[in-house]
Amino acid sequence: MTGSRKFFVGGNFKCNGNKSSLQTLIESIIKSTLPASEIVDIVVSPPSIYLEYVNQLVGQRVQVAAQNCYSETKGAYTGEISAEMIVDIGLKWVILGHSERRNLFKESNQLIAKKTQHALSQGLSVIFCIGELLEQRETNKTEQVLDEQLGFLLNGVVSDWSKVVIAYEPVWAIGTGKTASPQQAQDAHAFIRKWLSEKVSKEVANATRILYGGSVTATNSAELSKQLDVDGFLVGGASLVASDFVTIINTA
Ligand code: PGA
Repeated sequence: MTGSRKFFVGGNFKCNGNKSSLQTLIESIIKSTLPASEIVDIVVSPPSIYLEYVNQLVGQRVQVAAQNCYSETKGAYTGEISAEMIVDIGLKWVILGHSERRNLFKESNQLIAKKTQHALSQGLSVIFCIGELLEQRETNKTEQVLDEQLGFLLNGVVSDWSKVVIAYEPVWAIGTGKTASPQQAQDAHAFIRKWLSEKVSKEVANATRILYGGSVTATNSAELSKQLDVDGFLVGGASLVASDFVTIINTA
């Protein structure tokens, strides 16, 4: 991390929790000692059915993100929620392009780009996730994959880069207990920042937060956060344990 970008820690609860467990989790997080809001943005992302419930529990210090949304305003899209609905319940964030959406639910780069463009047009900020599969890393295709995934943000998709946070999440590290080494994370983050500098602008490259995600724990977060281009984390499993999540937030 560097002092020039505000640290960011997101908790992606995925398809976990119920009203009772989410209440316990959120209450423990917000009563903990947390760094000031000038130091770190904290965003939690519960399943969509609990977005409003969790938003009523978080208070001022913690924000809430949806885990996904569709690319259209409304209509015959059974099972989907729209960016407009997320804005309507008072939220400012959405996660898009998570590898579970890409791989389990077969979302294409094109669809994720459409969703991103639409979410931004509605004023939402987007946590845009990218990352390579194990076989892609093993065949030295990591940079090619990141370049391709990021490429879908060009050509007018992103109207305002200050509303985009990029999460680098190597798929082989998600939920597997296998974290990228600090050097592997730094190398990928540096590649992403160079990409932003070349394809967008130096200013955007300097200002955009790049998060690492993939088996981040209370134990490995400090070392990862020392890397120059690691500006925070997107945390899955460890965000469901209040004390671990708070430790990760406090690496800021
Ligand atoms: P994990 O998930 O921390 O459980 O590996 C990270 C993510 O999917 O965002």
